[in-house]
Amino acid sequence: MRLALLLVALVPSVASAELPHRLPIGQGERVFLPPPPDDGTQPEQAGTVSNIIYLERCKGGCTIYPSGVDDAKTLRSSIPSNAMSEYRLDEFENSAGEIGAAADAEWAEVVKCVKEVYSPFNAVVTDVKPVNATSYHTDVVAGAATQLGLSSSILGVSPGVSCAPVDNRITYTFANRHGGSGRARINHLCWTIAQETAHTYGLDHSFAFGDGRSACNDPLTYRSDCGGQKFFRNDSATCGEFSARPCDCGATQNAHLSLLSTFGPGTPITRPPTVMVTQPANGATVPNGYAVIAIAGAQRGISSVELWLNGYKWATAKGAAYGRDGQPDSSYSLPFPADVPDGIIDVVVKAKDDIGTTTTAPMITVTKGAPCVSAETCADGQRCDPTGRCLWDAPVGELGDECTFEQYCLTGTCAGTDEKTICTQSCVPGVSDGCPDASFECLEQSAGRGVCWPKGAEEGNCLGCSAGTGAPPFLIGLFGLGLILRKRRR
Ligand SMILES: [Zn+2]
Repeated sequence: MRLALLLVALVPSVASAELPHRLPIGQGERVFLPPPPDDGTQPEQAGTVSNIIYLERCKGGCTIYPSGVDDAKTLRSSIPSNAMSEYRLDEFENSAGEIGAAADAEWAEVVKCVKEVYSPFNAVVTDVKPVNATSYHTDVVAGAATQLGLSSSILGVSPGVSCAPVDNRITYTFANRHGGSGRARINHLCWTIAQETAHTYGLDHSFAFGDGRSACNDPLTYRSDCGGQKFFRNDSATCGEFSARPCDCGATQNAHLSLLSTFGPGTPITRPPTVMVTQPANGATVPNGYAVIAIAGAQRGISSVELWLNGYKWATAKGAAYGRDGQPDSSYSLPFPADVPDGIIDVVVKAKDDIGTTTTAPMITVTKGAPCVSAETCADGQRCDPTGRCLWDAPVGELGDECTFEQYCLTGTCAGTDEKTICTQSCVPGVSDGCPDASFECLEQSAGRGVCWPKGAEEGNCLGCSAGTGAPPFLIGLFGLGLILRKRRR
């Protein structure tokens, strides 16, 4: 039996600003499709999928043929039951219920939105039926679920999640049951199309990100606590409809990375971040703890805003919350950390979206206190350049090089024992490739966290190596000697 994933709305046709309520699968909304006919079973065709996503508008109506095996080209579909030999779906309607040329403008907006959502990947979203492609995916964007014999409350349906992407499937976005108008309806349709298509590429419903934020800004969500255009997020999420559960194919999922591995990279066509520093003015004198203020926004939303002082990233602010219309352009406050030394300071603010698209505001130069005259008033490892700026040279320390401050290291981490600190990086103990170089191993610092350390560096000091506690001998030896790893601070 094949599980269908449904997107459901209780009030799909009400032209209200309120987003429709979505019913969770597993509460009476799971649809078990009939077993495949005797002539064959559904081929999984996992591993290689076409990168073409065809959006079928059903001009003049579509005929759907029930079949145990999907065929995107001929509209043989595993979704409707065998109760009838064929089903008819009405053509895509705009918000006024019009079809044909009258609906062209809204249709074009829907296609544009889906192209934007899939643009970070090497996927081709098109509403022109492919003629030469060996295979492709079809999402039918038309009609109502009742026309396939399904509940009228269903907004979209996909033939279930398989952990590997599957090719040549048909999914549905029951466009004519999507309520609202204008941009809200475009975003709503785009949400359903993105979700149903992505289910066939192995993605489940996202629920919340690692820091507890709602996944409402990802089309894989059922949640409606934020609106606007949704994008496949570069963040690991738990799965679930109205509460968190493990994902179908692992504890969590990162929709962006998953689709990157399915399709390879594309060229994002979303508007990159904008950022403008509103204070201080160029040439200003600023006190300790001064807060730089910048206004930033991006089509995908801002993920972080960074404060760079004399070429070093001193502070980061997280992107603003998403609201009814997505994330608004927002004001970000970036106070100078207390240990920023006095001197001439070049201030640069960078704004990033969640896939790393970065915009840098024009540099402004300020003075805090007086220009430096020697490295004595600068931070650990900095020099005072002839222009009165305290700054670090660009990092040169490779993994394993001895260090005394973190800005020396290419990894940005200088850690070690009381005897020796090296450039290192964090890793997960017990993961075989947790460190980039085979001559390093991951030494545990706390549960699930460690740093890369040269293999066998402390062999001569090993204590209790055969104690059989299950801990690596090196670790016992190190802690037995009281050489607790610590992170060097400036
Ligand atoms: Zn779904």
